[in-house]
Amino acid sequence: MSRVFCVANQKGGVGKTTTTVNLAAGLARLGRRVLLVDLDPQGNATMGSGVDKRSLDPSVYDVLLESVSVAEARRPSPTGGYDVLGANRELAGAEIELVGLERRNMRLQGALAAVDSQYDMILIDCPPSLSLLTLNGLACAHGVVVPMQCEYFALEGLSDLVNTIKQVHANINPALEVIGILRVMFDARITLQAQVSEQLKAHFGDRVFDTVIPRNVRLAEAPSYGMPGVVFDASSKGALAFLEFAREMAARVDGRYAAA
Ligand code: ADP
Ligand code: MG
Repeated sequence: MSRVFCVANQKGGVGKTTTTVNLAAGLARLGRRVLLVDLDPQGNATMGSGVDKRSLDPSVYDVLLESVSVAEARRPSPTGGYDVLGANRELAGAEIELVGLERRNMRLQGALAAVDSQYDMILIDCPPSLSLLTLNGLACAHGVVVPMQCEYFALEGLSDLVNTIKQVHANINPALEVIGILRVMFDARITLQAQVSEQLKAHFGDRVFDTVIPRNVRLAEAPSYGMPGVVFDASSKGALAFLEFAREMAARVDGRYAAA
């Protein structure tokens, strides 16, 4: 049985896609069978996995509209060692088309159930909003990974996400929880970042992952080569941090759901 995790934060540019792609590749390296689901019409996780979004047909859009199965729409990442249910601009239309349809929040859950036994982990890269697409992700997830930059307003932005997660938990998915907060793009030389990092620890305790992802230019360069950072330059500081994070995530998930 697969465990499903959303990488979510309603702010853009906070490292969701970088986290999803590198966690997928890191877990694949550990021997886990991974499916990455791109729920962002920008298709950055798709491209960053080496799958061309421009020639992608069918995509996750067709899966949400129930015209094809996940098995028909997924592609192997040629660089990452995992499968990709990719997205492109077409997905932006799904938001509107789904509104009038029944089970509009539950489309992804239904589709993923069919491949449940084929993966150990399913990672969902969410768009920068708390939209119907994000709801489809949260509705089928066991947990949410929240990447955060340690900036002044970071904690404030978190409360909207936490409230949405609480509502989804209460109304459609009682299994949902925040599996952890990941500090990303971290620069320990910046005093404010160190302070916010301490605040996060004080406030959320062991919900904060031990691993910290540093700011590292190799992680930012990798997507233009269609590769996860952990593959593009495996010895870079950013790649090593993401490999460490994959180990921490795997251990946390194994510990939490061992008996289930
Ligand atoms: P989101 O998906 O939340 O919009 P991205 O993962 O696309 O965020 O990251 C935003 C930008 O920051 C991208 O250009 C990405 O390459 C860059 N970036 C992300 N994480 C790091 C990091 N640890 N070090 C350097 N650049 C990073
Ligand atoms: Mg993104």
